Amino acid sequence: MVTTIGMLGGMSWESSAHYYRLANELVRDRLGGHHSARCVLYSVDFADIERRQAAGEWDEAADLLADAARRVEAAGADLLLLCTNTMHKVADQVAAAIDIPLLHIADVTADAVRSHGLHTVGLLGTAFTMEQDFLRDRLAGHGLTVLVPDAADRKMVHSVIYDELCLGVVSESSRARYLKVIERLIAAGAQGVVLGCTEIELLVRQEDTPLLLFPTSRLHVAAAVDQAIAAEVTVTA
Ligand code: GLU
Repeated sequence: MVTTIGMLGGMSWESSAHYYRLANELVRDRLGGHHSARCVLYSVDFADIERRQAAGEWDEAADLLADAARRVEAAGADLLLLCTNTMHKVADQVAAAIDIPLLHIADVTADAVRSHGLHTVGLLGTAFTMEQDFLRDRLAGHGLTVLVPDAADRKMVHSVIYDELCLGVVSESSRARYLKVIERLIAAGAQGVVLGCTEIELLVRQEDTPLLLFPTSRLHVAAAVDQAIAAEVTVTA
């Protein structure tokens, strides 16, 4: 079987473009030559999602994403990446709509944290991700303790995601404010910080800080590329 990576993106498209680039760069680095990623990307209109998030209409958002996921499968994908942490709130409904596996962003992130021998991490993301259980519990299910910023920091982190990063605005002052929040999480006992929103790594990169970061988009794509290449090696061996 030749594996095609399915991406359900558009949440926001800024991070989906990052997913697409990462998938191709990782395949090029692993296989060399003119190799690039076999993939299908279906991108939603983020306004349809954002409106439902703000209204708490999660079941309606789940239906929309389930329909989109079926389209990714019909286009030939062998596995699905839901290219957002926040909408993993409805990951079970999306997974139930398709016959291909959904690679859960929190599982691959937890694997990366555990591979460093760590047990306590800070979590940055949207208010939904930081304040609700869906992602924190999934990380905790892998034996991790999860710390989140205080209310004022959560508010700032959330606003920068929706008012800047999802709109393609990357600002020095927001980067500096995020780095301060990361420092406070480490001071509170985190051994590393999960960038638990797929746009955050467009703002803060590992080279910006000596503190250990876990960028969820990169980890998500890398896990999918690993699976795709492993399947290919099995076929050609
Ligand atoms: N991409 C973001 C995330 O990873 C936020 C946008 C969304 O709500 O999907 O959570």
